[in-house]
Amino acid sequence: MVQQPPDAAPGVRPTSGAHAQAVRLVCRRCGARLSAAVVETDADVLVPQVQAGQPTVPTGRFAREPGATGERHATGRRVLARDAEASSGGRLVLHPDDACHVRPLGNDHGCCGSDGLDGPNRACARCGAVVGTARTDCWTPLEVRFLPRAVLLV
Ligand SMILES: [Zn+2]
Repeated sequence: MVQQPPDAAPGVRPTSGAHAQAVRLVCRRCGARLSAAVVETDADVLVPQVQAGQPTVPTGRFAREPGATGERHATGRRVLARDAEASSGGRLVLHPDDACHVRPLGNDHGCCGSDGLDGPNRACARCGAVVGTARTDCWTPLEVRFLPRAVLLV
């Protein structure tokens, strides 16, 4: 594993296109771990060609929605903190199998899974904070989109 200080200088990006550093999502409120170790992949995977039953991103990866900040190529915790100020966009998209310690909320509806049509439907299993939206239904792509204001990357 590459050793890197926790707060690398802002603006310094990996030289290759891939952001190779594995991170975990944790609950911003209580610090509970909410994902397996994942590596950022290009947001290009988020183009709406994902078919029903297919994962938006493979396991072990996450992608960041192009956010209201417009800093889709930036990476790192400082940018995430700024994303947290934005009310929309910038969500972190993971494979459902990489999400952990989350539980359904009351508005979790779907046919044979979660359709995500009623807004965020997953909460931190420890503290109950609303953390994101899972889509795992038979007619949706398979994904969990975490709210940037609810999670931290560590
Ligand atoms: Zn929590």
